[in-house]
Amino acid sequence: MGSNIKMNTERIKGDISILANIVDQDRPLYTRRPFTGEYLKSRKWLKEEMEKAGLTVSVDAASNLIGERKGSRPELPPIMIGSHTDSVVGGGRFDGIIGVLGGIEIARQLDEQDVRLEHTLLIVDFTAEEASEFGISTIGSRGMVGNLNKEILERVNHDGITLREGLEQLGGRPSELEKEKKKNGDISLYLELHIEQGPVLEQTGHELGAVTGIVGIRRYKVTCHGQANHAGTTPMNMRADALAAASEVILSIEYVANQSYSTQIVGTVGRLFVEPNASNVVPGKVVFDFELRSLESDVLDEAIENIGQSIDSIAVKRTLDITIEPLSVSDGIIINEDVVEGVFHSCQEVGSSLRLPSGAGHDANQIASIAPVGMVFVPSQNGVSHSSDEWTDYELVTKGIQALWNTLIYFDKQFK
Ligand SMILES: [Zn+2]
Repeated sequence: MGSNIKMNTERIKGDISILANIVDQDRPLYTRRPFTGEYLKSRKWLKEEMEKAGLTVSVDAASNLIGERKGSRPELPPIMIGSHTDSVVGGGRFDGIIGVLGGIEIARQLDEQDVRLEHTLLIVDFTAEEASEFGISTIGSRGMVGNLNKEILERVNHDGITLREGLEQLGGRPSELEKEKKKNGDISLYLELHIEQGPVLEQTGHELGAVTGIVGIRRYKVTCHGQANHAGTTPMNMRADALAAASEVILSIEYVANQSYSTQIVGTVGRLFVEPNASNVVPGKVVFDFELRSLESDVLDEAIENIGQSIDSIAVKRTLDITIEPLSVSDGIIINEDVVEGVFHSCQEVGSSLRLPSGAGHDANQIASIAPVGMVFVPSQNGVSHSSDEWTDYELVTKGIQALWNTLIYFDKQFK
């Protein structure tokens, strides 16, 4: 497969540190939010690096930065490599970033080694992958596949600009989204290198991961309606304590997620709001969100039904009202087996590898609606991500890029 090509670890290290310095100085390290001055600056640098790597650079309607290298058979739909360079507030130096820089490093190697692929290759920096002030994530990849509607484009962020204006500031053309959207068959294969953002590779002693699927996420809002009352004068048997009820519901969510299903599931309650939130008042109302994640929609349906039943019985037992409303639904994707095997064997040539699902969403979720996708993971030290402590050794980043290269060379011959 072309594993004799040696990726340049020093150059990759240098690139990562350049982006780690183009961050918002007024916010926690390493913040680079989309639609900001720092983001524009990092985009400018990325564009120059793409051009130096011999790529023809353009910005699409959804404001994604795209570098193109023509293949020897331009009639074939392109292979696309992509990820993102925006971060969460106080994010890391690797999340998304290594996927884009890895793509650029591959373009440089193709250029320097004078390797001509059959497929045209596209290297993409997708706009705003992380959750944004517009209440939506994976903005650029959604836009690329025609999944950004008018209502979303008119949403306003904290600076008072609409998403439509934000995309325009980055060189996008929101009015052309529909016309430019990619459809089934427009892309032969989409590949993405990303940090795992979890502990599995490190704890099982593997250097690389071939992703088997990306979880779907269901989010719900639960409201427990109790009765606020004096904490001293209200006897225990005369209370409708909303927080005690919420606690039981939260434990039941944990219990349900802990049962065994045909596919693994995780369930989380990450925040709750207590009213009136005073130490001497029986809580009158509690509102919280919970989310469930799994590769399989059926498993999510089964779990949510079980949670609904326990909520009903907790409400009856405590004689208070508990309501549950859906907030958002995204379906998981199962990656095509041939792609998983191609990625896995390409990884195996570089280091010890594991097939594993992704517990985090990615731009690949969106692109999967129009093309086969494949993902390579590298380990996250201590499983930490979305934090300035996020770390992956440079040698492992290099191995990830090497595995991505092998995958590209392999599928360039396979996909016709
Ligand atoms: Zn990411």
